[in-house]
Amino acid sequence: MTGLSIDFCKRAAAARRDARLSQSALAREIGCMQSALSMFEAGFVTKLSAETVKKLSERLGIPLAEPQAPPEPAAVPPPLPGAYGYCPSCSCISNIPYAVDGRLFFRPLAVKVFSAAPVHCTRCGEILETSCPACGAPVNEGACCAACGSPYVAAPPVQGDISAWAAERRSEIAGIRGFN
Ligand SMILES: [Zn+2]
Ligand SMILES: [Zn+2]
Repeated sequence: MTGLSIDFCKRAAAARRDARLSQSALAREIGCMQSALSMFEAGFVTKLSAETVKKLSERLGIPLAEPQAPPEPAAVPPPLPGAYGYCPSCSCISNIPYAVDGRLFFRPLAVKVFSAAPVHCTRCGEILETSCPACGAPVNEGACCAACGSPYVAAPPVQGDISAWAAERRSEIAGIRGFN
């Protein structure tokens, strides 16, 4: 949807976390891909259709134009105790980018999740995904779901040399992690 401000995207992401919804849980409710929602929250406003943005604004109680009554909260399936989780944000330093055959992949940090409640990323605060957003299989280590092959972290559009972009981002992450 065009004509939206990046501020709306940020408020939507904050409202989703306040509602203790993961990106994939909200994406299921409003009928879009988790990857598209992730990009939308990162400010790529055209990644969601006007209809989907309307559902999102209603679900999270963020007015687009006229104030809307918030709908009933939906049940979120609890993650399996002892399962892996990962941070779905491509801008989080948990996720290391690599260029493979001209495509950009992110290797997430697989974190053991023992709580049935939503778990936040210790680096950026995002709610961890505990199952594959594409097929629902448990999260495995590595960049892609072993069950369906989908990349876990949606890559942002990168102009120019993907390998150079990934190398620069890796050294930036190494620098940030080094001072932790
Ligand atoms: Zn994170
Ligand atoms: Zn999958």
